[in-house]
Amino acid sequence: MKKTIKDYNLENKKVIIRVDFNVPMKDGLITDDNRIIESLPTIKYAIDNHAKVILMSHLGRIKTSDDLGKNSLKAVALRLEHLLNKEVIFVNSTRGLELENKIESLKPGDVLLMENTRYEDLDGQKESLNDEELGKYWASLGDIYINDAFGTAHRSHASNVGIASHLPNGVGFLMEKELKLLGDNINNPKRPLTVILGGAKVSDKIGVIENLVKKADYILIGGGMAFTFLKAKGYQIGRSLLDQDSLEFCVDMLNIYGDKIIVPIDVQEADEIDENARTAFVDASQMGTNKIGVDIGPRTIELFKKYIMESQTVVWNGPVGMFEISSFETGTKEIATTLAEIDATTIVGGGDTGSAISKYGLKDKITHVSTGGGASLELLEGKKLPGVEIIADK
Ligand code: AMP
Repeated sequence: MKKTIKDYNLENKKVIIRVDFNVPMKDGLITDDNRIIESLPTIKYAIDNHAKVILMSHLGRIKTSDDLGKNSLKAVALRLEHLLNKEVIFVNSTRGLELENKIESLKPGDVLLMENTRYEDLDGQKESLNDEELGKYWASLGDIYINDAFGTAHRSHASNVGIASHLPNGVGFLMEKELKLLGDNINNPKRPLTVILGGAKVSDKIGVIENLVKKADYILIGGGMAFTFLKAKGYQIGRSLLDQDSLEFCVDMLNIYGDKIIVPIDVQEADEIDENARTAFVDASQMGTNKIGVDIGPRTIELFKKYIMESQTVVWNGPVGMFEISSFETGTKEIATTLAEIDATTIVGGGDTGSAISKYGLKDKITHVSTGGGASLELLEGKKLPGVEIIADK
């Protein structure tokens, strides 16, 4: 068990909280503030316990100076101020006198947000390469370090591993929740445990399949990756996505775990990847030579629903069709709706699957939508996350 924010007396202490405010932005506006909302319990706890709260986060990638303006955390500071109903002191730099002075003048319960940690990437990728001096410098600004940024926990950066190496540390409530639901819960689930995997390439999910095939009762395969499995069964898949390098892996998996790995029995095929393309539902073994598989078919939806409704725990990572195009979204929408309806622990990986849940307005009906895409995949692969490993044990 890792130490948590609750293991420290925060009274009058400068508490650095590494949050994940890496929110999607369009034209300077935040399009989804889920990650900010998920950070609030830890921030509020620190405020209520009279800490001087110093928030750090990255936002997007910084490669050239053109990236600076569009990846400023200023908009996030304003949104956070609104959500907390409290002043958030924003400092538009990541080091220097102004930052140091503002931190020194904080009073218990005050909240300060530093500019995007990746501004430090402009000069030698100091944040992303966990520059020793930078981690030490940021640590010198606080007394206690709390990591609540699950989304970057699979990376070893100055703002997580770096700072934590120099300060008493712990995890925040969001990190605790993610580790419990995506980690412990998978190792010791209420059964049946069903895992739904979709998305584009099999290769991205090989580690997840290898780890979960031993733990789950069923793995339902949809999305682009289903077509490599169908090819592995000897079906012809037309112009559907094929991950040739993973074909052998799919053949092996079906041979060894054929009773657990459930692949589509019918699919929606289209002439083109286009909203108005002509489409048809066909048996998975009967695809046209020139067609593209874009979604699972109605019989597969019913089959998947049957497994889902019998389950006590369901983990879902990856849309089962090209849900961004409305004529190809039925499978993903139906799976999302079924998850929302059942009385079971339902966990959705971040990234595209999380966007699908938001698109259909179902977030409140899912036990947890993870705030981390890559990090949630690595946890499901059974990997250790560097941002968590560095945190002291209880
Ligand atoms: P991933 O990032 O691996 O989870 O992949 C998500 C992407 O997979 C989404 O953009 C979907 O459009 C895409 N996807 C889902 N079904 C298919 C399919 N049948 N063929 C190609 N791509 C798909």
